[in-house]
Amino acid sequence: MTTSAVPGVVIVGGGQAGVDLAFSLRFEQYAGPVTVISAEAELPYRKPPLSKDHLALGATETEYLRSGESYAEESITLRLGVRVTEIERTAHTVTLDDGTTVPYTHLVLALGAEARTLPMANIPADKVLSLRSLADARKVHALFETAADIAVVGGGFIGLEAAAAAAKRGIKVTVYEAAPRLMGRAVCETVSDFALTWHREHGVEIVFGADLSEIRADGAVVGIGVTPTTDIAEKAGLQTDDGIVVDETLRTSDPAIFAIGDCARFPTGFASGPVRLESIQNASDQARHVAHEIATGECSGYASVPWFWSDQGDLAIKMAGITSGHDETLVLGNVDSGSFSVLCFADGVLVGADSVNDGKTHMTMRRLLAKGVRVTLAEASAPGFDLKQALSA
Ligand SMILES: Cc1cc2nc3c(=O)[nH]c(=O)nc-3n(C[C@H](O)[C@H](O)[C@H](O)COP(=O)(O)OP(=O)(O)OC[C@H]3O[C@@H](n4cnc5c(N)ncnc54)[C@H](O)[C@@H]3O)c2cc1C
Repeated sequence: MTTSAVPGVVIVGGGQAGVDLAFSLRFEQYAGPVTVISAEAELPYRKPPLSKDHLALGATETEYLRSGESYAEESITLRLGVRVTEIERTAHTVTLDDGTTVPYTHLVLALGAEARTLPMANIPADKVLSLRSLADARKVHALFETAADIAVVGGGFIGLEAAAAAAKRGIKVTVYEAAPRLMGRAVCETVSDFALTWHREHGVEIVFGADLSEIRADGAVVGIGVTPTTDIAEKAGLQTDDGIVVDETLRTSDPAIFAIGDCARFPTGFASGPVRLESIQNASDQARHVAHEIATGECSGYASVPWFWSDQGDLAIKMAGITSGHDETLVLGNVDSGSFSVLCFADGVLVGADSVNDGKTHMTMRRLLAKGVRVTLAEASAPGFDLKQALSA
């Protein structure tokens, strides 16, 4: 059965990237049909609160990305609870698991990612929970209501946010991290060390290198990273490599098909090779970029500054740029005061900053990166150096 005869933009995935794209297309005056197909039955929602206030406050209200009515107001067809199972690239159609077929002029894959999990020998499987979707968050919320003792596996952003929320609610919580430091893939050592002390002072026990088969608790939250969703792209013969591979315009190896958000691996001037980023900034900015390309026909390179935030209790961590390849750092401010930033340098040049309770430096860093201002370690180390002045230089 074919449900729509007029091609237009078909967006697979009703997460941040997919929904932002649909509304950005209308903002860009795109007049053709726009369809969002979402495997989840829920009206599209914001994910960040799921591991923060939602858990800490025991909040049950959901923050939806847009009201239910706004889709109809913008003539956006939202199909919930149906999954695209196949892309027919020659016919320019997608097939859904309800047997329907939808034609497209442009197809955008905003498939997101799935949480990785692992078995825990001493905790019942139904109490070993991931934290990726609203359905997951409801289960974690229910666990927090009854559990006295929770294990968090993984000392990354989501694990630490969940742990801080549990501790705030008076639940005994232990974070088990396999690597030698917290958030090791994403932040510099100074911020890892600061966070370790902060969490311990705020009631979170943290254990490095534990044997998971020994862990006993009423339940566990597993935050050990995600696997990008690429199944239908792979099946359609699109290039994938830990994500759907796109070029600088965010097109896949088929020019009629784009990929954005958590599922896309893209080239960027902010790193030495292609990256896949999991952040609201990345999902939203890529959505706006593709909307502009489709609506105007202009073909330009995506170049937004990457940034991310994580609220762990009262600890506001913000990152600007991609700092994973840095080899030297310089601290701005006083670590002991609890408000500071760490400038990260690669080959003597500033590539980004990790900030703790220091939104001002974070914003300045983003503006510096956006302007392409080059700051060297020697310049930043000079007495009287001011990051803001570097911006106006
Ligand atoms: C708990 C949590 C807290 C977070 N906190 C922060 C934060 O503080 N700051 C920050 O910057 N980022 C944060 N993030 C990351 C951020 O939310 C994600 O990077 C962003 O939501 C990714 O959006 P997306 O649209 O690419 O993917 P998703 O939101 O995962 O959406 C993808 C959607 O596509 C659907 N889908 C997949 N395959 C199909 C198919 N074949 N057919 C139909 N639908 C399909 C999926 O079901 C899903 O609904 C957080 C993420 C989580 C999970």
